[in-house]
Amino acid sequence: MSSDLLAKQRLVVIATKNEGKVKEFAEALAKLGKEVTSLREYPEIGDIVEDGESFAANARIKAKTAGDLLGVPVLADDSGLCVAALGGEPGIYSARFAGEGASDSDNNAKLLRELEARGAALPDESALADGSRMLSRAQFVCALALYDPGAGRFIEAEGAVDGVITDKPHGDGGFGYDPFFYLPQLGLGMAELSKSEKNEISHRGEAIRALLVKLITAVE
Ligand code: IMP
Repeated sequence: MSSDLLAKQRLVVIATKNEGKVKEFAEALAKLGKEVTSLREYPEIGDIVEDGESFAANARIKAKTAGDLLGVPVLADDSGLCVAALGGEPGIYSARFAGEGASDSDNNAKLLRELEARGAALPDESALADGSRMLSRAQFVCALALYDPGAGRFIEAEGAVDGVITDKPHGDGGFGYDPFFYLPQLGLGMAELSKSEKNEISHRGEAIRALLVKLITAVE
C-alpha cells in the first residue's frame, strides 16, 4: 500500500464514531490536504466488537472490519488512559470504564472515585498553584492501524504522552479524560490546549506522525 493513502486518497476513513477523535484527525490531516470521514457516516456498520487484549489488537480489529466492509483503506485508533495508582486501568476499557454506554463525565467521576477510594496522592510538593491536588501519574496511549483490504496489509504505529491526574478539572476543551489530565511539563491541562497544540504533544499526534513516516518509507 505504501504511500497510496497519502498520494491518491483525499478522503481518509477513520474507523470510529468518537467525535473528539474525528476532530483531532481532521486537524492533523488537514495539513496534508486530506479530509476525514468516520463511521458516523456509515450507520450500516454497527458497533464493532473490540475484544482484543491490547490497544494495537483492537485498532487492527476496527480497521479490518471497516476496511473489509467498505472496500477502501481504513485508519483505526484505539486509545485510552493508563493510571499508575490504578495498576494501569482503565487502559483498553477507557471508553466503558463506568459501564457500557458510559458518558465522559460518568467515566471521569468513576476515575476520581477510584483514586479517592485508594487514597491516591502524589507528594505535597507537587500540589498546583490553584490548590488542586495531583493524584497519580498517568499516560494516554494511542495505537493506530491502517488496513488496506486490497493488499490485506496493515501499517501500524503507537504514541504515548505522560501526565498526572488531578482532583479538579483544568480547561473544557478536548474530550474524554482530558479535563483531569494535567501536563506538569507545560503547566497546563490537556483540555486547555487547542486541537493543534494537543496534536503537537499528544499520544494521538505522536502516533499519526509515526504512521506517516512509515507510510512514506514503506516498501511497495
Ligand atoms: P476507544 O474508542 O475504544 O479507543 O476508546 C477511547 C477512550 O479512551 C475514549 O472514549 C476516552 O475515554 C479515552 N481517550 C482516548 N484518547 C483520549 C484523549 O485524547 N483524551 C481523553 N480521553 C481519551
